[in-house]
Amino acid sequence: MPLNGIKESLRSVIARPPRCLRCRGAVKSAAYPFCQRCSPRFSALIYGGCEECGKRAADCTCFSVGGTVRVYWLFSYKGDTARGIIYFLKRRASFEDYQYLGLKLRERVAEISGVGMSFDCVTFVPRKRDAFLFYGYNHAEQLAKQLAKRFGIPCVDLLAHTGTGGEQKRLSKEYRGLAAKTRFCINGEALADGRLPYRRVLIADDIVTTGTTMGECAQILKSYGVKQVYGAAIARTPRGNKIWMGGRYVPLSEVKK
Ligand SMILES: [Zn+2]
Ligand SMILES: [Zn+2]
Repeated sequence: MPLNGIKESLRSVIARPPRCLRCRGAVKSAAYPFCQRCSPRFSALIYGGCEECGKRAADCTCFSVGGTVRVYWLFSYKGDTARGIIYFLKRRASFEDYQYLGLKLRERVAEISGVGMSFDCVTFVPRKRDAFLFYGYNHAEQLAKQLAKRFGIPCVDLLAHTGTGGEQKRLSKEYRGLAAKTRFCINGEALADGRLPYRRVLIADDIVTTGTTMGECAQILKSYGVKQVYGAAIARTPRGNKIWMGGRYVPLSEVKK
């Protein structure tokens, strides 16, 4: 573990002059983390349509993750602007960057599910210990905290990586059979009488690719009594030459046959 990596990361979460989230150029206000050049690109990105179905991100229903009711996402992980943002978020994000993206995601939830939509708590996908030490923070947790603040609900640490301290033993009976295949488990400290005291939970992650990670986390929460799981991600990876058909992504080559 390079010490410089840790030092750099610690520095990143401490106050520093506001920088553009895409190019690291100077910005006028930390409350709006984009420079004049990147600002229109960011707007085009988050108000741009879905890569798969062509609809506005708010109207797109072609993306689904098993175990969740719905996943809210801000933009498609495609092109220089999207890649630049995710790159810096993972490495040198500031508190204000997450504050801003949390606000944008909160707005997206309202746009899709109405302003009255809320959850009992927000949680996040755990980050591997070595990655956590390297970067000095869990980006999904930073996002979850900001979302929780915007909704006025608690941010609760509900999940853990398997093999990080015996939590696997606490898995419920019906779930234990799957444990060998899974990477995540419940955080035993969050349980009350063996159940989670939440009905509707929002899971935050920075980027959703295949949905396997978020789906796994959703299934765990549900096996402990959560009724509805929603996801929130900054970006979603487009599926390329696949289309949504009959409840799954089908390669175009298969459709033509
Ligand atoms: Zn910029
Ligand atoms: Zn779509």
